[in-house]
Amino acid sequence: MKIHLAVLYKEYLDLILEGKKTIEARFSKVKAPPFRKVSKGDKILLKESRGPVRGEAIVKDTKYFEGLTSERIQELVNSFNDGLQIKNDFLREIKNSRYATLVFLDNVSEVIPYYVRKTDRRGWVVWSQENQKYVQETLDGPPKKSDMNPYFSDCESGLHSFFKSSIRNKEGYPCCRNCGADVVDWKRLHRRDSDDIAATIQELKKEWWRTHWWNVEIDQKALDHAISRKTDLQVLSRKRIQKSVGTVYDLKGRLQPYRDGYQTPYQGNIIYYAQHATGTCCRKCIQYWHGIPEGRDLRDEEIDYLTLLVTAYIRARLNEGGGSRDK
Ligand SMILES: [Zn+2]
Ligand SMILES: [Zn+2]
Repeated sequence: MKIHLAVLYKEYLDLILEGKKTIEARFSKVKAPPFRKVSKGDKILLKESRGPVRGEAIVKDTKYFEGLTSERIQELVNSFNDGLQIKNDFLREIKNSRYATLVFLDNVSEVIPYYVRKTDRRGWVVWSQENQKYVQETLDGPPKKSDMNPYFSDCESGLHSFFKSSIRNKEGYPCCRNCGADVVDWKRLHRRDSDDIAATIQELKKEWWRTHWWNVEIDQKALDHAISRKTDLQVLSRKRIQKSVGTVYDLKGRLQPYRDGYQTPYQGNIIYYAQHATGTCCRKCIQYWHGIPEGRDLRDEEIDYLTLLVTAYIRARLNEGGGSRDK
């Protein structure tokens, strides 16, 4: 049994889930999936275009057609349109196609909607070696709770995950990868206004991962170090930002800091905690949280701004005693 991900416009997906549309059809000018890739018994995940997976179906039968003409397409639609439910505007779009795949659906069921990590615009994805990991992630659903997982979210509590999210709003800003929520004021954050730090911190805390770092117990070594170096912490923070994320090198043809994404440890120094909490830990996080593109050195004023965030975290955590888990 193969597994397929089919992307459908909402109106057609609704018709399938209502049981009115029983055949999913794909028309193309070239031989492309799902042409000759679907078999009886395969499973199809039904994903709404720009939306979540909302249903599943099993393939009852398939029919493939090639060497089509516009007359032949019209005939085909006439004979199957009870199941196809194709509208006239769509018929105009497909009139120059040469290949067609009809997939007869069975056991259609609705599922609790979930988002998948689909990063390209393909309308049909077939399980294969190459995208096995991606299909597996799709089947697994949202990431499971773990103490160290930036993909994790607790969406019902308003704690989402925007990390490497391929779900975007109309303006191209990230939405929660697990529930699609569009709740962060990215434009405001990307102004990097040093007078607006409090609001920036509120926005950062909408991500489960950041909130975790705002509340996690700080280890004793880090705490002792922070207290003994209290007066130097601003200088040390700036140095750390500069060293960990400030400079890029040509690595494997990409301009990035050394070990980008792995350069900020999880313990031993309060500045590391601050970096994870404020989205200043790697260039990916800096890009989406603070709107600074990857692939170039950070400018002085950008480093100043990021240092301000880091020191705001340190001040807040030291004032509360550092070890407390209280909000
Ligand atoms: Zn969410
Ligand atoms: Zn990061």
